[in-house]
Amino acid sequence: MNSPTFSLIVHGGAWNIPDAAVADCRAGIRRALEAGRDVLARGGSAIDAVEAAIVVLEDDVTFDAGIGSHLNRDGRVQLDAIVMDGATLDAGAVAAVERIRNPIRLARKIMESSEHVLLVAAGAELFAEENGFPLCDPAELTIDRERAAWQRCKSENHSPEFHFGHKHGTVGAVALDARGKIAAGTSTGGTCCKFPGRVGDAPLVGCGCYADAQAGGVSCTGHGESIMKIVMAKTAADLLRSGAQSQDAAQECIRLLDRRAHGAGGLILLDRSGKPGAAFSTSRMAYGYLKPAGSFFIAP
Ligand code: ASP
Repeated sequence: MNSPTFSLIVHGGAWNIPDAAVADCRAGIRRALEAGRDVLARGGSAIDAVEAAIVVLEDDVTFDAGIGSHLNRDGRVQLDAIVMDGATLDAGAVAAVERIRNPIRLARKIMESSEHVLLVAAGAELFAEENGFPLCDPAELTIDRERAAWQRCKSENHSPEFHFGHKHGTVGAVALDARGKIAAGTSTGGTCCKFPGRVGDAPLVGCGCYADAQAGGVSCTGHGESIMKIVMAKTAADLLRSGAQSQDAAQECIRLLDRRAHGAGGLILLDRSGKPGAAFSTSRMAYGYLKPAGSFFIAP
């Protein structure tokens, strides 16, 4: 590979993206790529790049992560996030947090400053407080679009058809830095009208995210209960480890997700040399990566 000597791929979820949302998705993916690319271009670490890209996507109301996330059955935002370091296999994750604007930052703090991997709900927020993370008012994470969608879901008895049309926008990133270190992360508001306390695949090591310097890095999106069944991120990493090409590994995971778990979704990945792969079984997936010449590929 010529310049750049680093790689980055990001996603904003595999979902039924309507034509009207395509421009916002593309703009968000571009901003996330720029943020991560800038970190990598000045010699920053893969973890820093993953965090920078995901913060941009969490702060963008287009996506189901951070502000603008779906509401759960009780009308509350509950967020999940994870980051994983491929060099050490260290990971940090949070689940069901309600007062954290950027859960990916807290996930990283757990990875770097605690003996634990996953903290949930009140315990995760206590850890945040004790480590100087500002807690936000949960109302700050709720936007009118999601409040209206939740009202409609409620009045239609949470009809599954409506949920399907409305589902969107988990975010994730995988980076390989100039020193050859790989990292991955995923952040989500989870599924629309989920049961309070429900945790999906996203913050679980090997399900919504995995990174191993000997294989590659992966971030997943889609129906969490199905993704968990096939431990999709670890499955993708194992395929890479056994020599599969990036794109073949991604496609094989989507086949497995359909055939074995009867679920839909998508994933992005980098192999250990930084070669990107992406696949999805929804109508569209928002994603993008750095091309070897330094420009961006962006979809849809
Ligand atoms: N995987 C996420 C979850 O189940 C949702 C998504 O990616 O759309 O929480």
